[in-house]
Amino acid sequence: MTVSAAPSTVKSRVLIAGATGFIGQFVAKASLDSGRPTYVLVRPGAAASPSKAEVLKSLHDKGAIILQGLVSDRENMEKLLKVHEIDIVISALGGENVLDQLGLIEAIKAVGTIKRFLPSEFGHDVARADPVEPGLHMYKEKREIRRFVEEYGIPYTYICCNSIASWPYYDNKHPADALPPLDHFKIYGDGTVKAYFVAGTDIGKFTMKTVDDARTLNKSVHFRPPSNFYNMNELASLWEKKIGRTLPRVTVTENDLLAIAADNIMPDSIVAAFTHDIFIKGCQFNFSISSPEDVDVGTLYPGESFRTLDECFNDFALKLKGNNKDAGGHGNATPNHVVESLAISSSC
Ligand code: NDP
Repeated sequence: MTVSAAPSTVKSRVLIAGATGFIGQFVAKASLDSGRPTYVLVRPGAAASPSKAEVLKSLHDKGAIILQGLVSDRENMEKLLKVHEIDIVISALGGENVLDQLGLIEAIKAVGTIKRFLPSEFGHDVARADPVEPGLHMYKEKREIRRFVEEYGIPYTYICCNSIASWPYYDNKHPADALPPLDHFKIYGDGTVKAYFVAGTDIGKFTMKTVDDARTLNKSVHFRPPSNFYNMNELASLWEKKIGRTLPRVTVTENDLLAIAADNIMPDSIVAAFTHDIFIKGCQFNFSISSPEDVDVGTLYPGESFRTLDECFNDFALKLKGNNKDAGGHGNATPNHVVESLAISSSC
């Protein structure tokens, strides 16, 4: 029997925790774009930060309903879920707050009416990937969350979207916020191990497609767009084409990455552990997704295209040009230390 996506005319009511965060912003915007009533949970005091206040204002202007609370506060979460008749809960809490979701899970269990829960995953399949410490510690916490969700019989979807489209700096947990290098490339190992790169907007868009799709119920959804499967050497060449010049390549060895991970300095060591897992061990493709618990997002939505990495790097090149003009230049590449310090608002 083939189960279809079965679109419903009644839009599910969505609550997103972590909408002021890096990944959460993409998900919240996509939820609003999908026309679903969208509630965003913010920590009390979040608006005191000018950048978070700006994010909240833009989500509010698009129609989001802002709720205050902590996901760890089970009682309040239970009340919010009931009062607002929430159907779908998406958590995009940061890696350091993974276990805060336990309060939310207890509330979801108590309410008993939530049709789908997407815990904070948005990376690798934590059941399969096996990074060195301290990356492993975060995965153990994400596995613990999965265990509670499954034991409680909460309907779930795990989003395994792989890497965000950007230059994969080994020391930056939000690499899409930074331009690719302008002075030299750091290449991990021999630069031949591939990874999947997905635009932030596509992480949001495809996440929202899964939330009330019967085919993704109690599944891990894998993002493996064939057009965006690149190794470090290919990524460097792509960026060189965009900036119109070649850059020196410096090798960062497996041992270098392991040494940074072993230093246990946050967040660099965690990012280095994941970088090792991706670009040395090949953790994004070294397993098959043919089991009944896995679905490939491209197979689910064959008519929907992904933004290509080429397009994403065009965006970075445009930003670079804009930055140079703002700095009084003529649109030519400027030294790395000047441009890299400028935060960019990433679409990829
Ligand atoms: P961020 O640290 O950018 O944002 C975390 C969000 O969670 C913020 O909005 C924060 O609120 C909120 N938050 C934290 N604790 C609580 C709480 N107790 N109650 C309510 N809200 C809370 O997270 P990231 O976007 O970096 O990470 C989200 C997920 O995406 C993680 O699972 C991470 O591993 C993954 N990830 C994947 C990447 C990829 O390339 N695939 C890249 C980066 C992350 P406040 O604004 O108040 O701080």
